[in-house]
Amino acid sequence: MGAERHINHFSCGSEDVAKIAITIDDWYSRELLPEFLDVANEYNCKLTFYPIGVNLLPEDRELWLRVINEGHEIGNHSNTHINLEKASRDRIVRQLENMEKRLAECVGQDYELNTVRFPFGAGRHKGTKSSFAKAVRDAGYMHAIFWNIDTTDADEILRKTKNGSIILLHSNNKDMRAFKKILPVFQERGFEMVTVSELLGLTKTSPLPPND
Ligand SMILES: [Zn+2]
Repeated sequence: MGAERHINHFSCGSEDVAKIAITIDDWYSRELLPEFLDVANEYNCKLTFYPIGVNLLPEDRELWLRVINEGHEIGNHSNTHINLEKASRDRIVRQLENMEKRLAECVGQDYELNTVRFPFGAGRHKGTKSSFAKAVRDAGYMHAIFWNIDTTDADEILRKTKNGSIILLHSNNKDMRAFKKILPVFQERGFEMVTVSELLGLTKTSPLPPND
């Protein structure tokens, strides 16, 4: 009997389909949210947002409701951006649950988070069957999302992006400039820009694929 897998790791989607996912992390610069949304809409791009819980403020309710209502996705990036890999099991669960609470308070409704992204890209080398992975699973998450494009240089992003790419950006002005450059080119190249859950075909209850 092989060891049970606790969670899935994803760094990219299928190379057979012309879909990519752009993810934007942290959201310390909350004031950039409307502009990211406007640019995304202009190019028919669905984004995946990984805000940390403490950056989700009730005064931004209308903005985060826009995120939800315009068809983007929100994932869990912990509550305070700690290195979860170094945290105890209970602290990992608390960090993920507290982010969920902050989000619910912010938008005034329940929102089912489907994926998790670990701050600092932690957890990648821990694998999918570790005690760390089990703690994440205990918090209700099966799908950990990494990336395969992590530069903020627009030309480099454009050079490296291919079918299935997951692009990592952050909520800052530098990445906004790159974002504005890459979207028209992606559209011209015929990439469909979708959420990570759509790219990877994930639902909250989708079963774990067989161990490989
Ligand atoms: Zn982060």
